[in-house]
Amino acid sequence: MTLRRLALLALALATTVVFLPAPVAVAQSPSMSFAIEDGVDSQDADFVVEGLILAEKFFETQIGAIFDQPFQVRVRAGGEPDSPGLLAYWNGRQIVVLTGSPAWKQSLPAERIATIVHEFTHVYQSSMVGFNDNESPAWFEEGVAEYLCYALLDQIGVIDHADLIAFDTAVSAIYMEHVPVEQIRAWGDFQGFDGDVYALSHAAVARLMDGKPLNTLSIYYTMLRNGYSADATFSSLFGATPAAFSDEMTAYIAGWDQPYNGAIMDDFIDGPVEQPSPIEVVSAPVSVSIGEQIVVTGIAQPASVCTLDINDPGSHTPLVERSSFADGTGDVFWLVTIPESVVSGLITIQTACGAAPETRAAIVGT
Ligand SMILES: [Zn+2]
Repeated sequence: MTLRRLALLALALATTVVFLPAPVAVAQSPSMSFAIEDGVDSQDADFVVEGLILAEKFFETQIGAIFDQPFQVRVRAGGEPDSPGLLAYWNGRQIVVLTGSPAWKQSLPAERIATIVHEFTHVYQSSMVGFNDNESPAWFEEGVAEYLCYALLDQIGVIDHADLIAFDTAVSAIYMEHVPVEQIRAWGDFQGFDGDVYALSHAAVARLMDGKPLNTLSIYYTMLRNGYSADATFSSLFGATPAAFSDEMTAYIAGWDQPYNGAIMDDFIDGPVEQPSPIEVVSAPVSVSIGEQIVVTGIAQPASVCTLDINDPGSHTPLVERSSFADGTGDVFWLVTIPESVVSGLITIQTACGAAPETRAAIVGT
């Protein structure tokens, strides 16, 4: 787990040549079309596809979102030369994922999945209130995208959201003290601000959402869609206008006295390493169904490249082959959607990091 924006701080101004071959179309849900450029690494394509499946189900089941406007997901092999820290963006019609950017290459699997969910949040927001609409505060829109992507990764057992909220609040106390969120309410001010606006926005939304169910956010967007002003909507759900909350948040940051949790930095690595490492599976499902997205987690040596194969015990050819890599503390995980090629009965889930594999069996339900 980590914060993609930290990569921004660490990156040199490397540039990448953009090359745009004709995309390969891949069928997805009716509203989502999908284009993966030639040259995109299959592991990166898997992160994007599984992240989208995770995000779409989350928004439909927990936020009550209906995606009826068509949009495209474009997975590019390159990056944006002028923005080496950019992993992905939403432009109102497309989610563009920059798998060739220095930031993407340096990011952990959890950050890549979080990035996809973050951008998917903007698809939802646009479907409700339009693209970068100035009614809802920009800090709130970005803070909600951060909050939901980390809440979801916490739900699947990949990060600890409370740790991240404390981290972002501490970062805000260090770097964004005396910056009221009102100052980054307009999109132009948010995007032009020289500072860690994402940490502050995440901390602010986490403070607003503390103890509230996630569907508070669907009520927020439904009210805006129905013509309520942001001030009225915000007040009815959070008990204060955005301006009043801004003052309260500034005071909260100023009074923050918990130490910066540097342990989060231990997750970062310089890059994945092919090395023989044992793996211990921490969690894997014992029963699965076709089309279900499963999460398998394990512990290996830090930064190890690890594979996951799903096998039919009667066949020698894996039904699914995936790779991932461990973070700086050895945590590794896979998100895998069980394909149609799996027939009912039994499968084995084999994980390995270049050394002795560990295999678990699972029953396939119907
Ligand atoms: Zn965003």
